[in-house]
Amino acid sequence: MIIYGRKTVQSTIKSGKFDCPNCRRQESYHLKNYQLYFHIFFIPLLKIRELGDELNCFFCNTTYVPGSVLSSHEYDTRNRLGNTSNEENHSIGLVPCDFGKRIGAFILDVVIIYAVNLALAFILPEASLFVILFAFIYFIACDLLLKGSSLGKLVLSIKAVDYEQNGDILAFNIILRNLIKGMCAIFPVIYLTSLLNDDKRALHDLAARTMVVDK
Ligand SMILES: [Zn+2]
Repeated sequence: MIIYGRKTVQSTIKSGKFDCPNCRRQESYHLKNYQLYFHIFFIPLLKIRELGDELNCFFCNTTYVPGSVLSSHEYDTRNRLGNTSNEENHSIGLVPCDFGKRIGAFILDVVIIYAVNLALAFILPEASLFVILFAFIYFIACDLLLKGSSLGKLVLSIKAVDYEQNGDILAFNIILRNLIKGMCAIFPVIYLTSLLNDDKRALHDLAARTMVVDK
């Protein structure tokens, strides 16, 4: 897919000299790391998973498993690959809620928004024209007053929290989160970004540094 999809991001993490079994002499190598990302317009936004490392001989271009030709001192994966973000956050008590609960909460909120908007339209016929603005205000007001919850989230006992502090979301991030969430409604498949990472964070969660958890 051109607009969004998966993209492999390659980076050279180390260069040096090694004994190439194919060349049978010391040659230069490049140690490369590969990561699979979710991209929108080729901008890597979200890491899906680690694909691993690869070592190439600069001279014969043979590909090796780094650990088979480098010593553990030269190739230490623990320093680089060990600290994935979800491991860090599980240590401060953040566990993502079930994706189905988020969908359920969202459907409940949409029903509430349309019901209230329909009722308003009886009093003020123009109200139906502003349903998107109304939805935006509804979600922001809920996040502020109910501390990361909406009425739908309250029913299903889930809430959005700050990803780094495991606490309340800053007002700025609440607005940013709902702006992006609203824009994604034009292209709802973007919500599925939350299925691509262990912390189940959608694009609006990544932008506003939030995560949806059980209460
Ligand atoms: Zn070689």
